[in-house]
Amino acid sequence: MANPTPVKCPKCGTILDSRKSPCPACGYHGYIPMSDAQIKKIKLILYPIAIILAILAIVFIPRLFAS
Ligand SMILES: [Zn+2]
Repeated sequence: MANPTPVKCPKCGTILDSRKSPCPACGYHGYIPMSDAQIKKIKLILYPIAIILAILAIVFIPRLFAS
């Protein structure tokens, strides 16, 4: 978690330390797409949350209408 996933500048291809700071080589500071590793990490976090929310919805929504 200490090392941020390296991202490439979409304009010149330089490896950037952070998605938030502009490219040191060409100054690009627009949208920088997420790397595959970052997308994978986000999916690993979001999928269990989505499953838990779905289970909670299935369990609690019928109770709201029953009362
Ligand atoms: Zn650049």
